[in-house]
Amino acid sequence: MGKAKKETGSKREPFSPAKVFSAEASSNKIIPNVLNSPQKYIQGDGVLGDIGLYLGLIGSTHAAILITGGGEKRFGQMVSQSLKRSGIDETLVTFSGECSFEEIERITELLRKAKPPVDSVVAIGGGKCLDTGRGVALRLSVPVVICPTTASTDAPCAGLSAIYFPDGKFRGVELYPLNPSLVIVDTRIAAQAPVRFIVSGMGDAMATWYEARTCFQNPNGKAILGTRPTIASVAIAELCAKTLYDHGFKAVEAVRDSRVNESVEHVVEANTLMSGIGFESSGVAAAHCIAQGLTVIPSLHKNYLHGEMVAIGLMTHLVLEGKEDEAHKVGAFFSSVGLPAHLGQMSLDPERDEETLRKVCRAAVELPFIQNEPFDVTPDSLLEAMLKAHKLGLGITDSFGDVAYVAVHGI
Ligand SMILES: [Zn+2]
Repeated sequence: MGKAKKETGSKREPFSPAKVFSAEASSNKIIPNVLNSPQKYIQGDGVLGDIGLYLGLIGSTHAAILITGGGEKRFGQMVSQSLKRSGIDETLVTFSGECSFEEIERITELLRKAKPPVDSVVAIGGGKCLDTGRGVALRLSVPVVICPTTASTDAPCAGLSAIYFPDGKFRGVELYPLNPSLVIVDTRIAAQAPVRFIVSGMGDAMATWYEARTCFQNPNGKAILGTRPTIASVAIAELCAKTLYDHGFKAVEAVRDSRVNESVEHVVEANTLMSGIGFESSGVAAAHCIAQGLTVIPSLHKNYLHGEMVAIGLMTHLVLEGKEDEAHKVGAFFSSVGLPAHLGQMSLDPERDEETLRKVCRAAVELPFIQNEPFDVTPDSLLEAMLKAHKLGLGITDSFGDVAYVAVHGI
């Protein structure tokens, strides 16, 4: 036996999916079809109040609770009481607000001192808090439990974290070998968040089906880990879009009054579980490349949510693929729930901002997932599709009169 390798959190070898799943790594040169999902997904009105019961499923007796100061005020007591009822000790850690390696290391070191050691990390909050929890749990080699407080993106179920520098600049993505042990979504809490969050989540989730289809139909299409989509994940993505068409508008009406009804339950599941499995296991394409490209404009990055940028991305994606009928259907849905269907609703004017849009398109085609499209995409072809989608969107919102969008955004 060689000397035991001394492992510190920061020196950990990063997970490389290519070493496991690529054709080069495989003994028979195949790329496998892989489904990524949490071990268990629990959703319902008030479920966070039973978190102790659910932690019992993974045998936790000492949980680290990662939460913001505001979150602690709102949910801290409810969580503590449930843990107490189940005989689980807790160590509370306040999340600073940025998901950086520095913050992950700070919390990891803090929790290494806990006695007895913590045997789970429970992250309760928005995307950055959840992503930090994933990183900490990996470094402590304990299961992570993800409890989102909004339904604004499809990130909760994923096995990856978006990492930022301490000053807020995007640094990159950290991939994990496995997905969360538990994802617990309290629909009452999601329904109490501002309506814009669940609406934005619908933009992110609607793109999942159209991007999954692109990756699945292209024999060279690959998901995030470089794997091929499973039929199951593509079917889930398709059902995700159907669920949004059927229940999106009714869910918005309920969340405006902070109410949970059947439509809210269905849309929260679509935004979180279906879109989560759908995107991570099937892959993303032009819609997400454009959304990422739009973040190069500082004012958009600051003022608009991920799903709103994906909505604009999806309109362009469909026009790029020559599917204008579908772009029309998607745009009408976006207008009905309060998502942008044209560039003007993102404070962009195609004539005034032409140079900016060129920059967006250049950034978008640099991203590897643009290669999931079955044809070559250039900055010029992307810009052409974006402008065409803009005109199409203008036609749709003319008939809707921007009513829903204005109502959600208050502008
Ligand atoms: Zn997304």
